[in-house]
Amino acid sequence: PRVAPARRRVLLKLSGEVFGGGSIGVDTRVVRDIAEQIAATVGQVETAIVVGGGNFFRGAELSQAGMDRSRADYMGMLGTVMNCLALQDFLEQCGVDTRVQSAIKMEQVAEVYIPRRAIRHMEKDRVVIFGAGAGLPYFSTDTVAAQRALEVHADEVLMAKNGVDGVYTADPRTNPDAQRLSTLTYGEALARDIRVMDQTAFSLCRDNDVTMRVFGMEGEGNVTRAILGEQIGTLVTA
Ligand code: UDP
Repeated sequence: PRVAPARRRVLLKLSGEVFGGGSIGVDTRVVRDIAEQIAATVGQVETAIVVGGGNFFRGAELSQAGMDRSRADYMGMLGTVMNCLALQDFLEQCGVDTRVQSAIKMEQVAEVYIPRRAIRHMEKDRVVIFGAGAGLPYFSTDTVAAQRALEVHADEVLMAKNGVDGVYTADPRTNPDAQRLSTLTYGEALARDIRVMDQTAFSLCRDNDVTMRVFGMEGEGNVTRAILGEQIGTLVTA
């Protein structure tokens, strides 16, 4: 917890799938829309963003195809940085000051990850975009989202999802009786094997008592609403 809690501070996780709009590369229309939605909240809420990279490479998939896992994971991490730069560009077009901080040094394009500096940026109304995951193979950007949320003292982790608007009692695509849950505990999520995040990310959130909101990207203005603290999707608590 912060000494002097001022404004709401959130950690938004955007997966690579969101950036790619379902395919490889960056769908600039989607990124522009997300940037506009974030821009609408600047000044009211402090936002840090962890960006995934599955629209370029996933280490596990490349390793299945015969690559060395660690090298493949580094490719995955480098992919996240391209998404960061795209988001930075569209945010700046909206007049938002941004900083990209990378967990792997690449000084021409990003600051290095310095958590205290990230906090200072947010206090100055800058949106901070975290790239290159944790800089460590065998980790996921979900886990990094949980870790960064803890380290910058975010009040909530916001998990933006494609194609689903929260956590359901069963898979809503295959089970017509599936119902959306408004709240859920990490214990229940783990017991039901609900895979909105990987297990490492879940247990980090559970053990350190961070709340997480799972919400759908599809609804009009949903990113803005989640950042501002509207009760959309599903709230997961310890
Ligand atoms: N990755 C990694 N360490 C990290 C974060 C990511 O090795 O700390 C690699 C991993 O190969 C992963 C890829 O980067 O598959 C892209 O990240 P992720 O799959 O988490 O992105 P998302 O599913 O959110 O698009």
